[in-house]
Amino acid sequence: MATYEQLFENNRAWVASKTKDKADFFEKLAEDQQPDYLYIGCSDSRVPAIEIMGLEPGDVFVHRNIANLVNNIDLNVMSVINYAVWNLNVKHIIVCGHYNCGGVKAAMTPKDMGILNPWLRNIRDVYRLHQNELDSIQDEHERYNRLVELNVYEQCVNIIKTAAVQRSYLDKKYPVVHGWVFDLKTGLLKDLHINFEQILHDIQKIYNLMELPSDLSEKAVGNIK
Ligand SMILES: [Zn+2]
Repeated sequence: MATYEQLFENNRAWVASKTKDKADFFEKLAEDQQPDYLYIGCSDSRVPAIEIMGLEPGDVFVHRNIANLVNNIDLNVMSVINYAVWNLNVKHIIVCGHYNCGGVKAAMTPKDMGILNPWLRNIRDVYRLHQNELDSIQDEHERYNRLVELNVYEQCVNIIKTAAVQRSYLDKKYPVVHGWVFDLKTGLLKDLHINFEQILHDIQKIYNLMELPSDLSEKAVGNIK
């Protein structure tokens, strides 16, 4: 483990490496940000956000919390999504979970976790929504892995429920929402290939926030079938 003082030495070495070939790297970085991606991931220290995608500072707007949850009354994540969609005009929103997620594991452990109880209850809700499938998986490790994937899927659905994403997609055809899982054992990303347009179409039957007359709304939704 690096000492506290080493962090600043590391920082100076990092600055030197960035400016070696591009002397104006930080001047350009300071000008503006125009990231194409919003990444919502777990706070887990083993899942670095931009490194696993091979991207650079300025490429990704990042939000992280325990178990990569998108809760509609969490002002933090909702502010991030709205800012990313309306101000940054991101083209893609990625929810990235990871296998061996301590948050997902803790959520399913019969234990009083204090302030974490209401947060982790969102994961129990995911379990309840997919109980038949999850209960049919005999191997406990596999069942947790599947819950990690289903949790990512449901957080993607929560993003698609937002007015910001629905409005922007109908107007501009972006952002598209993606669900990924990072495998700590291999370092590889798995794209869950969620069907964004189908989910948007399906959930608008209940979560249509476009304030359009129903026939217009049908037309708008029809465009994205
Ligand atoms: Zn995690």
